[in-house]
Amino acid sequence: MSTKRDYYEVLGVNRDASDSELKSAYRKLAVKYHPDKNPDNAEAEEKFKEAAEAYGVLSDANQRARYDRFGHAGVGSSAAGAGAAGFGGFPGFEDILGDLFGFNFGGARRQSQVQRGADLRYDLEISLEDAAAGVRTQIRVPRLESCGTCTGSGAAPGTTPVECSTCSGSGQVRYQQGFFSVSRTCSACRGTGRIIKNVCKDCRGDGRIQKEKTLEIRIPAGVDSGARLRVQGEGEAGIGGGPAGDLYVVIHIKEHEVFSRQDNNLYCTVPITFTQAALGAEIKVPTLEGEETLTIPEGTQTGTVFRLRNKGIVSLSGRGKGDLLVAVNLVTPTRLTREQRRLLEDFAKIETKEEKGLFDKVKDIFG
Ligand SMILES: [Zn+2]
Ligand SMILES: [Zn+2]
Repeated sequence: MSTKRDYYEVLGVNRDASDSELKSAYRKLAVKYHPDKNPDNAEAEEKFKEAAEAYGVLSDANQRARYDRFGHAGVGSSAAGAGAAGFGGFPGFEDILGDLFGFNFGGARRQSQVQRGADLRYDLEISLEDAAAGVRTQIRVPRLESCGTCTGSGAAPGTTPVECSTCSGSGQVRYQQGFFSVSRTCSACRGTGRIIKNVCKDCRGDGRIQKEKTLEIRIPAGVDSGARLRVQGEGEAGIGGGPAGDLYVVIHIKEHEVFSRQDNNLYCTVPITFTQAALGAEIKVPTLEGEETLTIPEGTQTGTVFRLRNKGIVSLSGRGKGDLLVAVNLVTPTRLTREQRRLLEDFAKIETKEEKGLFDKVKDIFG
């Protein structure tokens, strides 16, 4: 057990790899080390089992979370063992790849008739406030659902599809070309292996119809733009009773008029006056949860950034919060009253030597 390789390393993906990255990495390895392609190659068989076990664990959200926290110990004997056992001897190998990737390895009948539904992507725009606090929202997803009239068979009620006579129901037609035997998808039944004589009127034989489903989804607090939420089984209906695909909700966060965001930190700029900067002041600054008081020390320069701890966005993991970074922008008065002008002129006359010295230095630099 102790010599087991890291599952992410086995699949050659990063620890934050998405489900589809995992799937694609596994697919490459599975195809490469497929026992049919590597007969009597014990090393390939080992690699194949290893990849299958890694994918078995990482493709399951619960097991992956445990693995991330506790390593191999977290998915120990029961989980990993069960995953590996399922692949042992490879009886169900074609089914597995067929389910996963819609492959057809040499025309096992079931695969051409039963297909998993397509995954769907839904782009959802939410406000920064909702991203920070988390939100429940309803979305309307147009998708193909199983036809209720024919319960997905595609045949008119009271009738059943019959086996395709061209391919004898296999969905594949075999051709002999010289030394090679080539399989092609049967054109008579388009690979389904069956012919529908009396087509269901509602779905025109497809077994699925376009509908709009309203789903309530929960957006966790702390999500950022680009996050993908997987809603299992809410993609398109499968074909021939196959499992439904998944729905992926991709989050986009609307631009906020006050705050910008980088990871879990928020940034904003607030104006301060010349006298507040020079004398120091208590000013109000906005946060996502209301106003906060910020003390500006005397002699603050424009552009100075103040950090308000834990006033940013809560971390998606629920542990910790980002900060709010407030940059102050000194605003020069543009319209002075006669009184203000007189006072400032008096002030200019008595500006300290130190400040004058600084300006002289700048003058020297520019010659
Ligand atoms: Zn056929
Ligand atoms: Zn139908």
